[in-house]
Parts: sequence; C-alpha cells; structure tokens
Amino acid sequence: MTRRFTGNKLVIASHNAGKIREIGALLAPFGVEVVSAGELGLEEPDETEDTFAGNARIKAHYAAQKSGLPALSDDSGIIVDALDGAPGVYTADWAETPHGRDFPMAMAKVWSLLEEKAAPEPRTAHFNATLCLAWPDGHDEIFEGQVDGRIVWPMRGENGFGFDPVFLPDGKTQTFGEMPPSEKHAMSHRAMAFAKLVEGCFA
Ligand code: IMP
Repeated sequence: MTRRFTGNKLVIASHNAGKIREIGALLAPFGVEVVSAGELGLEEPDETEDTFAGNARIKAHYAAQKSGLPALSDDSGIIVDALDGAPGVYTADWAETPHGRDFPMAMAKVWSLLEEKAAPEPRTAHFNATLCLAWPDGHDEIFEGQVDGRIVWPMRGENGFGFDPVFLPDGKTQTFGEMPPSEKHAMSHRAMAFAKLVEGCFA
C-alpha cells in the first residue's frame, strides 16, 4: 500500500540547481511548500550505491532524518547502450573536475568513446530518473521513469542541463537542450517518474 503525502512542506533532497528547478515546477500545482537541502544547510551524503534507487534512497533518507520533514530525491543519469550502460549512475562523476562539474567535457568523453568503438548508429541511450520520497520515520516510496533516444554530436541547444544537448529523444527532431522546457517537462524521464509519484502519493 503506497503511503500518501499529507503534509504541506517538503524538502527537495538535491543540490543540483537544474533538478531543483524542474522538481519545483513539477510540484507547483500541488500547493506544497518546498525547501531545498541547500537552503536548509544540509550536506550532500556520499552516493555509495550502484543503482539509481539505492542512491535516491540515501539522499532522501538523509534529508528526511536531518530535517524532520518528508524529503524527495532524484537520482538520475544517462545510460548509453554501446558503452555497456555507462555513465549510468556515475553520470555526474564523469563531469567532475578540480574546478567543479564540466558537462561539455563529459559529453565529449562519451562521444569520443563511441567513436573509438566505432559504435553503429543510432547510438541508443536512455535517460533514467528514480525518485524517492522518504519520511522521517524511515518509510519510503520509489518511482522510476525512463525515456529512450540517441546520442547526437555536436551538442545542440542551450536549454536544460547536464547531458540535454546531446540527447535526441525518439520521434523528436530537437534535443532536450533545444526544445522548450515545457516540451521536455511533458515527456522527460523525470516527468514520467513524477507522474507515478503523483498517482501514488499526491492524487
Ligand atoms: P545525480 O543524480 O546527482 O547523481 O546526477 C545525475 C546526472 O545525470 C546529472 O548531473 C546530469 O548530468 C544527468 N542528468 C540527469 N537528468 C538529466 C536531465 O534531465 N537532463 C540532462 N542531464 C541529466
């Protein structure tokens, strides 16, 4: 039995501005007051699991325990078939540099590995988002969404964040980086996981 969200305040257990913006927009219709982990001064826990659900659980439970409020986390990434699923749960790690995250570098790395392997076109890939809503008493609910597409090169578009400029969803002519945010939000992995969350916990 899925537990319903009955409170009026929720922590977004993320320090990623792009995710906080998207989750905040998706939650707006429900009249829930949202506060981010950063605004509460919470640290980022280490993501030590090797699954999206495992890492989503770590982030949501940490924020729920520290804040005493229900907390919603998102663990996500891009799965590239010809790279045996990489970067997957390590997508953000591939962008790490001593001076912060560099996504153009990470996208170039993915493309050059595909070129090295002479991977056949289309270079299929999937964005996955796994949401965890955790309560301070330790209960949680998990919801997953995935969108299929391909990696394209060069990067296209200034919208979105992360790997959006190289991801062309199936049936579309614009990358996630090119399409208006409203169009991405209507079909993204995060939106799909979110629809399941709403049906399970908010509707
Ligand atoms: P994490 O969930 O914080 O470990 O990081 C996931 C990483 O996956 C992000 O930093 C982005 O690079 C990438 N990612 C997840 N969702 C999206 C998206 O909607 N667009 C582009 N990149 C994404």
